[in-house]
Amino acid sequence: MSIVGYLSEKECRSVEVSECLSWGFGRYFENEFWRLETSTLRYSDTSTLRIMGVVVKNLSKSFTSQKTDFAAVRNVSFEVEEGALVALLGPSGSGKSTILRMIAGLEQPDQGQIFLGGEEVTRVPTQQRGVGFVFQSYALFKQLTVFQNIAFGLQVRRAAKSRVKERVNDLLALLGLEKLGARYPHQLSGGQRQRVALARALAPEPKVLLLDEPFGAIDAKIRKELREWLRKLHDEVHVTSLFVTHDQEEALEICDKIYVMNHGVIEQAGPPEEIYKNPATEFVANFVGLMNIHDAVVQGGRLAFGPYVFPQNGTSDMRNGDVIRIFFRPQDIYISGVSNAYALQARIARRSFLGINIKLDIEAENGFNFVAIIPEHIFYQEKLSEGCRISYQIEEFNYVNLRAGRGMRKLVFVDYEI
Ligand code: ATP
Repeated sequence: MSIVGYLSEKECRSVEVSECLSWGFGRYFENEFWRLETSTLRYSDTSTLRIMGVVVKNLSKSFTSQKTDFAAVRNVSFEVEEGALVALLGPSGSGKSTILRMIAGLEQPDQGQIFLGGEEVTRVPTQQRGVGFVFQSYALFKQLTVFQNIAFGLQVRRAAKSRVKERVNDLLALLGLEKLGARYPHQLSGGQRQRVALARALAPEPKVLLLDEPFGAIDAKIRKELREWLRKLHDEVHVTSLFVTHDQEEALEICDKIYVMNHGVIEQAGPPEEIYKNPATEFVANFVGLMNIHDAVVQGGRLAFGPYVFPQNGTSDMRNGDVIRIFFRPQDIYISGVSNAYALQARIARRSFLGINIKLDIEAENGFNFVAIIPEHIFYQEKLSEGCRISYQIEEFNYVNLRAGRGMRKLVFVDYEI
């Protein structure tokens, strides 16, 4: 990386600078000045950089199939901070790949704007956008070795031989591929191939790395390893990365921020914990993590389910006859083998081993059945077993009123009478 200079905002708007930027120079806002660099991939401290990595404004895209229009992406806006690792998470067909393809320039939006590193690129050809792309299918060049695959993008840009060698060797080391440089793709495992694909995308020092279900075709154990690789790699190179996945566990584990998508729109945006603990909509509650769900009807001014009775005055958006959908996480249930430790009584119908956790199918009164997940050591500490009686407590529920159709609300312990 070499720093070309520091420029004021006005100087930075000049024609010469715009031209430099289109050649692959990077510019970063730092202490009131723009820093111009010949490289956009930085190994240095990025804490003072404030410019946005990716900005998408009011993006829409429809496809025509059998003479009908289908809106795949509907007026979507979001931002990825410079240097962040962000997920677009959603079920199949929710529009994630279409967004990624529009950012890469592989698909033209019907409406909206795309900015990369502060520059609008909506109509800029793919090869001038400075994006690296990693797909689910490895898409490596079969006739080239690992070294040649990684070197490819640099050679196309006519980088000096010594530079290519240095960069490829750095990336081989960074991705733990040092001994595999001379191999061909068919001589690699799926996980190794995907690491080569990552190195190849990073080699030309992209402004933004776009990853479309990169680990989708890989078995569970290697997939987990690759996730860790990606996070580690990201922490070292800080390249702005947008990661498309339908795997909520993957998004929760490695991303700084998650945009949850459904039917072409963003349902919720936030850090993983926020998405998990405070789902904003019924869709997010259902899609991200395991959830217990119960429906109950408001009758006689009260909402009753299982042993719980909530007076209507604690829940002002409810009317008699409203159907209320209740949500609570299996991890948010207190359980004890001591009968009076908590106020409510139930029975363990079945237990399943999940590794470090135990999943319990619980039968409580009035057909109130739910799933609880507790750490294995608690299971033994509380002397629990299949068929045994337990006491339990749930302190907080999320709910949506299906008639009122508003977002998620909370019912808290103090609101109810038992
Ligand atoms: P997946 O995880 O399965 O890849 P996704 O969330 O990435 O799904 P997209 O691939 O963006 O979803 O597709 C969104 C919708 O647009 C889908 O219904 C898909 O069938 C449709 N679609 C995507 N590309 C085209 C196309 N070229 N022509 C017609 N329809 C398309």
